[in-house]
Amino acid sequence: MALEQLYQEVILDHYKNPRNKHDLPGAELSCSRNNPLCGDEITVYAHLDGGRVAEVSFRGSGCSISQASASMMTEAVMGLSTEDTGGLVRDFRGMMEGKVEPSEDRFGELVALTGVRKYPARIKCAVLAWDVIQAALSGDADAREVRGEAAQSL
Ligand code: ZN
Repeated sequence: MALEQLYQEVILDHYKNPRNKHDLPGAELSCSRNNPLCGDEITVYAHLDGGRVAEVSFRGSGCSISQASASMMTEAVMGLSTEDTGGLVRDFRGMMEGKVEPSEDRFGELVALTGVRKYPARIKCAVLAWDVIQAALSGDADAREVRGEAAQSL
């Protein structure tokens, strides 16, 4: 019970005081995705330097889980190599699916999001931002389209 409350406080704090929630002028990568089941929308912007995620930010709207997870994602991947980011996305998804042990050494405060696993419909909310950063880094079609829009608005 106490742990559950702590987890909820971590999530609420990120929801109310989102980290890195802003545009990122000059970001060469960006991607948007939504979760129509819940109405969540996330756009992730990233600036790479020397194979690392030098800067990452997000914009979005939706439920507290989706927005808190996006805020936590930006903190977790900031400064990581793109390879390590891919590994963390994979492990985070595994943790949310119950396939990877929620170790605080590996995941830090991200383990707070495992409280959501009791509500399977909300797992998509928690994973959305992670899908978006992965799509942005892989430079898929959607990401290119969004980059085009960003370039026009500059
Ligand atoms: Zn949601």
